[in-house]
Amino acid sequence: MLNQKIISDEKLKPFLQGETIADKTKALLAQQRKIWKLPKEGYKSLEKVQVKVFEFDGFQIKVQYNPGRIISSSAKVDKKSIESRKCFLCINNLPDEQKGILYYRDLIILVNPYPIFPEHFTLPKIDHIPQAIEPNFEGLLDISKDLGKYYVVFYNGPKCGASAPDHFHYQAGIKNFMPIDYEYPNVIEMYGEKLVSENGNTVYAVDKYLRKFISIESNKKDFIKNYFNKFFKIYKKISNSDEEPLLNVISNYVDEKWRVVIFPRAKHRPEQYFAKGVKNILLSPAAVDFGGVFITPLEKDFKEISKDDIIDIFRQTSISTEYFEYIKKKLLKK
Ligand SMILES: [Zn+2]
Repeated sequence: MLNQKIISDEKLKPFLQGETIADKTKALLAQQRKIWKLPKEGYKSLEKVQVKVFEFDGFQIKVQYNPGRIISSSAKVDKKSIESRKCFLCINNLPDEQKGILYYRDLIILVNPYPIFPEHFTLPKIDHIPQAIEPNFEGLLDISKDLGKYYVVFYNGPKCGASAPDHFHYQAGIKNFMPIDYEYPNVIEMYGEKLVSENGNTVYAVDKYLRKFISIESNKKDFIKNYFNKFFKIYKKISNSDEEPLLNVISNYVDEKWRVVIFPRAKHRPEQYFAKGVKNILLSPAAVDFGGVFITPLEKDFKEISKDDIIDIFRQTSISTEYFEYIKKKLLKK
């Protein structure tokens, strides 16, 4: 079955310019858009999608009106709902037209037919195993380097925006679509607090970006792994649960080094998601929203969402100041 889902070199060739995995991934999108109705329509309607931009001090938040995302934004992710549906990331359940690229032996690169990014991919494991960052963090570094020519790779926690929490997957999107990709250096300059600095390898904390994040920058995988593990241990301890503490991670490989941004979260969905009447906003923040693109599948929300709503949604869903200060204190190199 797996072999049937892997696109042949011959089919990819007419779309291919270059030889890297990133080039092949780009070619896959062109091929799938040509032969498969769902992404053909999905990417076409994305070209006409409405966007508005809110400016803050040194950064911006884009709001995208994207009706195609209604299924994902309103997805039921409780255990019972997950168990009773057919897993849409399992190879056997993929549409006939859908083909992918095998990444090493355990991952398949697939086109996301319901895009947010003008080029958007889902990268599930071949095996149906649960969403978890700890055993897959190094994999995130590897694939973000391999796709780094064009794409940024991100992870949504099982209770933090992943619409298939039972089937492990990363996602990838074209670089410089999320504001964080292009405004990061400026945000660090304005708001970054340097926690660790070792020969050009750094760990920063930022808390005046409406949402809070820890970032790790290095060309050394071991440095990043080490500080991610430290962070994760501290965070897991204070979250006081057997489940993975809430987080989203964005890994961008830029200028021969990684820039990993970790957003610890207080909760997945804000009060507005559950509110009735005029207060309701159907928005389920995940990595892309934390990267600076709010996705509103409903037109009323796109029209009415305000700067104050954005501030309030981040305030509720980003980690509390108390917890963040504790993590910072523990990460600070003595
Ligand atoms: Zn599955």
